[in-house]
Amino acid sequence: MQSDNDPMYQIMPKIVPADRETVVELWPAHRNARLLPDAEYRVRCFPVEEYRGGSMWPYSTVVTCRAEGGKLRVPLFFAGEQEHSIAVEEVRGEETEVLGDFRVYSLQEDLFQRRPYKGDLHMHSNRSDGKEPPGHVAGACRRIGLDFMALTDHGKYEPSLEAMRAFEGVQLDLRMFPGEEVHPPDNPVHIINFGGRFSVNALFSDESYRAETAAIEHSLGHLPPGVDRRAYASCVWCFDKIREAGGLAIFCHPYWFTQHYYNISGLLTTALLDGQPFDALELLGGYYVSQVDSNTLQVARYQEERAAGKRIPIVGVSDAHGCEQGQLFGWYYTVVFSPSLELADLVGSVKDLYSVCIEVLPGGPPRAYGPFRLVRYALFLLREMFPYHDKLCEEEGQLMLRHFEGDAAASGTLASLSGRTAAYLERCWGR
Ligand SMILES: [Zn+2]
Ligand SMILES: [Zn+2]
Repeated sequence: MQSDNDPMYQIMPKIVPADRETVVELWPAHRNARLLPDAEYRVRCFPVEEYRGGSMWPYSTVVTCRAEGGKLRVPLFFAGEQEHSIAVEEVRGEETEVLGDFRVYSLQEDLFQRRPYKGDLHMHSNRSDGKEPPGHVAGACRRIGLDFMALTDHGKYEPSLEAMRAFEGVQLDLRMFPGEEVHPPDNPVHIINFGGRFSVNALFSDESYRAETAAIEHSLGHLPPGVDRRAYASCVWCFDKIREAGGLAIFCHPYWFTQHYYNISGLLTTALLDGQPFDALELLGGYYVSQVDSNTLQVARYQEERAAGKRIPIVGVSDAHGCEQGQLFGWYYTVVFSPSLELADLVGSVKDLYSVCIEVLPGGPPRAYGPFRLVRYALFLLREMFPYHDKLCEEEGQLMLRHFEGDAAASGTLASLSGRTAAYLERCWGR
């Protein structure tokens, strides 16, 4: 069913290679829209940022064409990496009518070869202190438009496997990975093992943890006075183990305020940011509205470290402890620009700085944080591409939840929908 809010016209592709000509197609997508065979259409394409010309009328390409087979097919040259505003008018004699302003984004090769994937890398189920069972959490993740997720219960790896088992044999487009929140003994730092093949929490009972941590502590060399060397060494040990397991080692919520002070001391945060033994920083952690200062501090700290020349991979996570209470779940997530949804590609892309963090507080617009180039692109995607992607995901998420609740018909419907989001992405991409 169409509603009056649906777009009147569709434009494809939306993502095109920079510095090349691409034929863009525009066609009516709504019952109230049409293209007339006897009308001329004037198409003006404005690069929104890098243009030359007077300040009054920025440089634009003008193409005049007619509809063929119900479509306008317009060859346009897209210079540089940026967004383009495409103004289309219908011209009949003296009369002109504006059809709309349509948007396309041109990308340099490295980004053009990647696809944007939405994911949440840190959340809880009722197997630790969350509200719902693991399978429910997974279904709810698809319902809010995620392409990948990992359940990361406190000190527990098994629930993430339970979430995956709940959909065994079901053809799913949501990629689920194992995970856990790692809580080492004698170390206040919270750590996420995202995607690792084995549990790091399970290794703390081994003698080797204490012996190896002591050896690391011994070999650390200089750390500023006051830094808890034992905790730092324990972090190094955990991050190394996560990498050994093939996962992404995430340094969690450094500015989480716990009653009287931050979860870890400023000295330890600084030492970890200096030595960077982790793979990625939780730039946006799962904070309630009353705690948003913690994310503001994390972002400010990140900007300052980056300005000082540091290279910091980032993730945004919900740390949700419930999917149905209207809090945290879906408020913060990561967009990874990756060659595929395979774990190694996602992990590699985050480490190579191809990720941005998104914040969507209730009633507010989405905000993106990270490298300028990716933030600018992500804002385009959030406006022009993700809304339809999310709609497809929502339907699949509802079916996942029905399957989890025992509806035997849901898995067949899911199988019939499989591949839809990937196909949509491919339609959005130019050749
Ligand atoms: Zn935590
Ligand atoms: Zn957590």
